[in-house]
Amino acid sequence: MFMHNKRLQYTVRVSEPNPRLACMMMEQFGGADGELAAAMRYFTQGLGEDDMGRKDMLLDIATEELSHLEIIGSIVTMLNKGLKAQLAEGQLKEAELYLMVGSGGASAKEAILFGGGPALCDSAGVPWTASYIDSRGEPTADLRSNIAAEARAKIVYERLIHLTDDPGIKDALGFLMTREIAHQKSFEKALYAIENNFPTGKLPGVERYASMYVNTSQGDGDARGPWNSGDEWDRIDNLDDVMPADQGDGTATVALSAKDQKVAAKLADRTLSDPTSDPTTGADMGAGPGAGRTKNGDMGGTSSIHSPAA
Ligand code: MN
Ligand code: MN
Repeated sequence: MFMHNKRLQYTVRVSEPNPRLACMMMEQFGGADGELAAAMRYFTQGLGEDDMGRKDMLLDIATEELSHLEIIGSIVTMLNKGLKAQLAEGQLKEAELYLMVGSGGASAKEAILFGGGPALCDSAGVPWTASYIDSRGEPTADLRSNIAAEARAKIVYERLIHLTDDPGIKDALGFLMTREIAHQKSFEKALYAIENNFPTGKLPGVERYASMYVNTSQGDGDARGPWNSGDEWDRIDNLDDVMPADQGDGTATVALSAKDQKVAAKLADRTLSDPTSDPTTGADMGAGPGAGRTKNGDMGGTSSIHSPAA
């Protein structure tokens, strides 16, 4: 069961209201890399986890992310405090309202529809969606995704910190940013605490393709590095060697029943193209300037339709 503690995980001290900054902060409330997404990601992974250690960690971090959601939501609420009261009491003049909701990216949806309170949307007013969460129920894949999610959340906090001079907000955001660093470390440890965590899943890769690097983009700018050269790689520069990779004929085939073969032949016959034909089309007949080469001539409509060679 969940309990609620009335104190925040970190104290929120906002110097002065700032609806435009509140709008930016919404990115970490209901955005793709925000706290709601993080909480739901780890909560659902934790519920589905059989390993007691990972289950405990995921539910610990999920619950902490909800506490972060509470902090960010409180920052948004404080930044909108004045706006919310003025909206509710009808104190804003039309021009002031337009200025407030239209400038600096502040979303009208956030201000008018949600009355200045935190809503489940991002900084552009886009509603939160479960598609932000990409869990697959395989810890060696999900932990890697969690590591990347924490890395993204850290970067978004870093950018938000640069957006404000408010020392109290900078302080709280610095805490939230740092917690994402700690979470990333836990997920990295949990991933590498699984023996044989690479490749993901159970099926082994096909040996001769697992170390093949294919230099498919060739020309100026071709580079070598540990990602494509050295003892760990079979580097393919001559693409003829791997087209196709299996040394087969590179065609796609399927065995059809006699009935399917017959119908497929009928379809092919009905839609057969005649490469010797020279049809006049609507594009030829309606061609005007800019049509390119047509049967009516380059400039369109200036020469008569050619009659087919006798
Ligand atoms: Mn967080
Ligand atoms: Mn986190």
